[in-house]
Amino acid sequence: MSPRLALLLLLAPACSGPTAEPARRPNVLILSLDSVRPDELSLFGGTSPWAPDEVISPYIDALGRGGVVFEDAVSTTSWTLPSHMALLTGLPDAVHGVTDNHKRLDPGIETLAELLKARGYTTAGYFSGPNLHPVFGFSQGFDRYENKSSNDPSLGVFTNPDPGSMIATHKDSHEDVTSPALVEGASDFLAEMAGTDQPFLCFVHWWDPHYDYMAPPEFVERFVRPDFDPEVDGVHGKWELDKNKRDWDSRGAADLLALYHSELAYTDSQVGKLLERLEALDLADDTLVILLADHGEEFFDHGRWGHQRTLFEEVVRVPMILRLPGRVPEGVRATGQARIQDVYATVADVLDLPLPSYASDATQFGKSLRPLWDDPTHPGYDQALHLDVPYRSIDHRALRFRDDHGRRWKVTLFPIEKRATIANLDKDPLERAVEEVGNYPASKDARIRRAVELVQALEDARAALPLTGDGAEAELTPEIRAELERLGYF
Ligand SMILES: [Zn+2]
Repeated sequence: MSPRLALLLLLAPACSGPTAEPARRPNVLILSLDSVRPDELSLFGGTSPWAPDEVISPYIDALGRGGVVFEDAVSTTSWTLPSHMALLTGLPDAVHGVTDNHKRLDPGIETLAELLKARGYTTAGYFSGPNLHPVFGFSQGFDRYENKSSNDPSLGVFTNPDPGSMIATHKDSHEDVTSPALVEGASDFLAEMAGTDQPFLCFVHWWDPHYDYMAPPEFVERFVRPDFDPEVDGVHGKWELDKNKRDWDSRGAADLLALYHSELAYTDSQVGKLLERLEALDLADDTLVILLADHGEEFFDHGRWGHQRTLFEEVVRVPMILRLPGRVPEGVRATGQARIQDVYATVADVLDLPLPSYASDATQFGKSLRPLWDDPTHPGYDQALHLDVPYRSIDHRALRFRDDHGRRWKVTLFPIEKRATIANLDKDPLERAVEEVGNYPASKDARIRRAVELVQALEDARAALPLTGDGAEAELTPEIRAELERLGYF
């Protein structure tokens, strides 16, 4: 053998030949539904107070039957911005660091979109609420990242230290109906990609199920009382009218829940439209579909309505479904604790891609959920919960975990008041009878110590990331301004 031929053979790929063409990696479609609590979907047994026979979420239910449903999926918090950041970075809130409206993602953190883009994926994101704005770093890694709401906020609200300016932006967005533009944008992208041999990531964020609940009349009529009149009954689902109303009677509360159900049913129909489009374009068999929510919604479970006030179960539990025909099993209901930040590592696992170099226990990076569907009794992973809303003087931390005997607990720390609560989630899954612990820093209770140590570990974990020091405040640095210009914001 000539030295030249020997060298050529040495350099040739081990599996060269006519069948060596590597299989194309699957596409990824992430559907994030804002404020959807799992127990109100029919997939999880949800029914509506005035219309118990109406099926609330037929398309989501069908998606669940075709893949894995995570029965105990949980977010990192109870509001939109940090939980989506956890989803797209694979990191818990205290570690990715974007815990309020004046912080943004450090560019040293590799987003899921960046991971896929670096492997040849075309990446597109469509969002419809102000908390997903690129100013927070959400566009990092997306070839295109489009706002499908009708009220594009002035960028000044993101740098104004007065929380009122952001609140006003949110108030306008709540009255917006965005699903049709969202579905159209994502559908056009899917159609474009169907004509190529290019794998893609498509991220779609649905703001409509977030209050205000303003579904089209044909959906409202299915769920409200026949004699329901919003003017007379005082239930508008409107920010100013009802957000702080505390004296709800059971009928008013049922009316509000019925409006929420009408919004869920409307959103479900729009999700169905997009999934039908995926099918019609012959993409469904090659696309990993992930449907989830960013947090839940309170309906007077603990006396209030809404979210971003507590870390109770009704606001941190979320629906989560994965479907990829042939590669993710059908009809599995996994019971272990699945976390929103595990989606990143799960996608990387299914697509056989390496995680970022800093993904490890030291940085508290999420883990693949594959063990939970391989063994539906797998316990899953402990979750850290975080809620820091300075303008409301709210600072809560929690740990949702199983002990060595498999018992499920939730410890919530209130650092401002120095008190804590412990819930036995096996006996008290709705947290109606939590145990109060005063002066928790002095407590010797092993469950409290475990939560306190986790909070410390999360703070240490951020130091293990390759940060550039550029993520402290959501101000318009030249890099962000350039990125926003690229996306057409100026
Ligand atoms: Zn949200």
